[in-house]
Formats: sequence, structure tokens, C-alpha cells
Amino acid sequence: MKFESYDGLLFRRYRLSLMLFLFLNTASAIFSMIINTSADSSGVNLPLLSLATFGLTLITWLLLRPKWHMRLLNIAALVTGLLWSWQIVVKYETHIYFDQSVLIVSIISLFLISTIALNDQLLAFLLHAAPSGITVLWLDDGRNLAGILFTLALPLIGISLHHFMSRRQDAFTRELMQHLHREKETYSDLSMLDPLTGLYNRRGLENRMEHILTAYSGSHYVLLLDIDHFKAYNDNYGHAMGDQALARVSVAIRDAVRSRDIVVRYGGEEFLVLLTNVNPEIARKLAERIRQSVLALEIPHLFNDKVATHVTVSAGFAPLENNHFSDAVANADRALYVAKNRGRNTLLSAEEINNKHPFSTQQA
Ligand code: GH3
Ligand code: MG
Ligand code: MG
Repeated sequence: MKFESYDGLLFRRYRLSLMLFLFLNTASAIFSMIINTSADSSGVNLPLLSLATFGLTLITWLLLRPKWHMRLLNIAALVTGLLWSWQIVVKYETHIYFDQSVLIVSIISLFLISTIALNDQLLAFLLHAAPSGITVLWLDDGRNLAGILFTLALPLIGISLHHFMSRRQDAFTRELMQHLHREKETYSDLSMLDPLTGLYNRRGLENRMEHILTAYSGSHYVLLLDIDHFKAYNDNYGHAMGDQALARVSVAIRDAVRSRDIVVRYGGEEFLVLLTNVNPEIARKLAERIRQSVLALEIPHLFNDKVATHVTVSAGFAPLENNHFSDAVANADRALYVAKNRGRNTLLSAEEINNKHPFSTQQA
């Protein structure tokens, strides 16, 4: 599950509470009207009718607008709370003479609705219960004070505790989700980088390529580089020194190109650079700059007893045509192969080998 969707989940829970709350109020108002119609006086009165109409209208609206994001619960709780206290006044006036328990029964049934639907919405609970609570205390005039206060206090304490526990749990879950989200981002970034050189690996290239191809409309070039005689380097200096040389060459390549070019460790001692939005001249200049930068590192390379030189790279490059990446890599690879055969420390383009052009950049 995505981190962003947690708030969506909370909102769906909130919406369900609102629907349940409206449903219970409406059902209770309709039930009161039906039950009382069978008694001597009619149960249909203005507060109950208003309650049923209000509830039904809002439920219909919410069902018709599933994406509606307005937070209505507190307003609905206050409106229904006021209507119920009006209903208590009306009922009290008609029933007081033959039913002394009417106030307690009224407040208990009202709290039943709040407790079921608003158990983690403290403010809505207070807005719904307060008008009726005050009305009942006022009508009772102190006769059943202890009973009424107990009936009011018990759910209030329970709901308050539940509310704070629920908020703590939400905060904890949100923090956990944020933490997981950050971890995921970190691991996702790390999985795209080569640990030795800090350059992109193939996965990183795939990830960046999609963006590059859509963001730039100009032409792109694929440049393949391979360190010359690197096996001999390892043999002479050891693997650890080989790793150091690889890291230094990587920095030289990265520094020689522009920030929008994508530098990838493509294989053991092979690099791929996606030169983005460039014309052929600039592509060649950048590739040549890399070749010279690596040479300028002057990393000693004792090739054998007789030949001592520096670490160098050979390179082949080809245009990326019609977004056919693998074709461009194959063409650059062919150019690189020819560059190796021409004595290494050499740069060749795919066009040059296709046209059998004698030109290449080489420095012994
Ligand atoms: P060429 O000029 O034809 O490219 O010769 P080469 O010796 O560079 O080519 P070859 O493919 O025969 O050898 C590549 C060497 O690169 C062999 C391998 O030990 C070394 N290599 C590849 N990855 C790493 C690495 O991560 N660290 C070190 N130290 N060496 C590596
Ligand atoms: Mg190689
Ligand atoms: Mg090599």
C-alpha cells in the first residue's frame, strides 16, 4: 500500500462514520414516528420530520457523490443534536404526566447512536450529545440529577479515552508508513546505483532513460567505453588497486560530461554514457574529452616488463535512432571493437566504421 493512500483510508473511515451516523438518526426518527402513531397521540412532529428529511437528503447526496470530500460530520452532529433536543422538549410536554422516565430514556437512546457511530470522533460526539444533555438537565429541574449526570458522564469518559487512543494509533501508523516510504525510496535509489563507482547500473539506466526520451526531443548518442588491458592491470597491481583505478576512471568520466548525460557502469570495466540532446560534433567532443581525461589521470600501467604506459579507455559511439536503444548499443559496440583493434586508447563512431572512414582519435 502506498503511503499517500493512508489518508485516503482514514477519509473512507470518516465517510463511513458519517453515513452510519446519518442512517441511525434517520432510522431512529422514523421508528419514533411509527411507534408513537399507534399510541393515542400522533408521533409525527416537526423535529422528527426534520431529522428524517435531513438524514435522508444527506445520505442520498453522499451516495450520489462518492468523491465528495467535505467534512460534514461535525455540522451534521450539531444539527441532529439540536433537532433531537427539540424533539425531547416536544415529547416531554406530551408524555411527562404519565411517564417520568422519558428524559432518561431519551438521553440513553441518543447516546446509543453517538456511541455506535461517533466512537472515535470526540467533537462530533459532544456536538451531538450536548444540546440534548443540557435540555434534559434543564427540563428535569434537578429531580433525577444523579441519574442523568451518570448517564451523561459514562459514555463521555469512554468516548474520550477511545478518541485519544485512536488518535495515537493513527499517528503511530502514519509515522510507520512515512518511515516505510522513506526506506523504500532509499532502497529503490540504492538499487539503481553501482556501489563501487556510484554511477548508475543498468537498472538505473532503464529508469532514467524513459524520462530522457520524453523530456528531450533532440538527438541522443550512446557511447561505450572499455578500459584497456585491465586484466593485465589487475594481474600487476592486484584487485584492490584495480578497484581504485575503476573508481578514479568513473569520476573522470562523470566530470568530463554534462549533468544531463547519463553515466552507467555497464559491465566490469565497461561504461555506457547516454549523451542526451546533442549533435554529432558535441557528442564526439564529449567522448574525446572523456578519453583525454582518463589519460590525464596518469594512472601508471605496467603492461609487461617492456611496456609501461597509463590506464586508457577505448570508445565507440553511435546515434540513438527512433529510440532503438539496443541497436545503438550494438553499433557503438562494433565501433568499440574496431577501436580496440586499432591499438586502443582510441575513439571511433559507428558512422566512421560503416563508411570505412580512416579517421579516428588516438593518442599513444
Ligand atoms: P581489453 O583492452 O581488450 O579490454 O582488455 P581487458 O584486459 O581490459 O579485457 P578483459 O575483458 O579480458 O578483462 C577485463 C578485466 O576487468 C578482467 C576483470 O578482472 C577486470 N574487472 C572487471 N570488473 C572488475 C572490478 O570490479 N574490479 C577489478 N579490480 N577488476 C575488474
Ligand atoms: Mg571489457
Ligand atoms: Mg577492457
